[in-house]
Amino acid sequence: MRVGQVRVNGRTARQLPLLQSVGPAVRLSILDERLRGTKFISLEPKSVLNSPQQTGVDFWSLNPYIGCEFGCTYCYARYAHRYTVERAHDAGRLSDAEFQEFRGPHGWEAFEKRVFVKEQLLGTLERDLRRYFRSFGPTNHPPAPIVIGTATDPYQPAERRFRLTRGILERLARCEGLNVGIITKSPLVARDTDVLRRIQERSDLEVHISLNTVDVGLIRQVEVRSPMPAVRLRALKRLADSGIRVGLIVAPVLPGMTDDVPHLEALFQAAREAGARFVHAGPLRLYPAVRDRFLPMLEERFPHLVARYRRAYEGRSGAPRDYARALAARIKKLQVRFGFPVNEGMADRYGRRLAPAQGELGL
Ligand code: SF4
Repeated sequence: MRVGQVRVNGRTARQLPLLQSVGPAVRLSILDERLRGTKFISLEPKSVLNSPQQTGVDFWSLNPYIGCEFGCTYCYARYAHRYTVERAHDAGRLSDAEFQEFRGPHGWEAFEKRVFVKEQLLGTLERDLRRYFRSFGPTNHPPAPIVIGTATDPYQPAERRFRLTRGILERLARCEGLNVGIITKSPLVARDTDVLRRIQERSDLEVHISLNTVDVGLIRQVEVRSPMPAVRLRALKRLADSGIRVGLIVAPVLPGMTDDVPHLEALFQAAREAGARFVHAGPLRLYPAVRDRFLPMLEERFPHLVARYRRAYEGRSGAPRDYARALAARIKKLQVRFGFPVNEGMADRYGRRLAPAQGELGL
């Protein structure tokens, strides 16, 4: 999954919200630890709700965690985690040895094993909401959307214990006239059906279940610990049956792996059967921080695709323009065939700057 990608000061805007919310006071107390070595670390952010001015995209965004145990090899949010760890080291809150331990041998492991938890974020959210409402003048209605989970999964395993996303939703349920989006791969979202229904009574709400293939074998090649497709689809159905506006986000579509018609058809069919209201999709973006993790995986498991990817993404993060265009046409045909709204995707709902970008890959 993942949205928004404008370059700001050398960083992508999707990364920036996390970076800005970290603030100077990283308090590195360990809140919990798993047997397999994952640690959950307390973080006190200065703000949690990031404005469009901060991020360069047309919506406000909120991410309760930095890092994610699901460990998708294409996840771009590793950069923000690395930045958080580097800032803690620079501020003297991590020794050199701890810094190495927090980064892991290749620099990307810590994203999955050292998860920062924005504890006590409700007080911060209260201040941020005042800022949010102040930002709307009489000409600025309806308010810009608030999207939860633009960078890391708000229903990742940590949420079972810390319940930060639930707390945020409880607060938003007390507001009126909002436009709220949630993006997740986790069936845990169905736990919060009650509060989602309350939000939907007073505001617009859309839940995006992220899934890029129903092929169980393939998904484990590219996503280390994510919930299985059937589990995600069951959660989608549960939400749909409860009257929640829910759909599928197929992102990223992986060239040569998940972009063929049979793969996509199977996804559309499954979405239809589960009661999805929409399906939208976007191609892989290969940011520098993603390459370190994704390309070695490709070399090991899909060696026949390595040259193709290197050629296609040489000197760019976005998929080649012709490829993006061909994929969009394929998705549009499937939307029509399966009776979903055409071109109703993140870009249409949350902002102009989310449209797929640039550059030849051949579907
Ligand atoms: S679930 Fe989302 S945030 Fe978590 S690793 Fe996968 S892409 Fe990244």
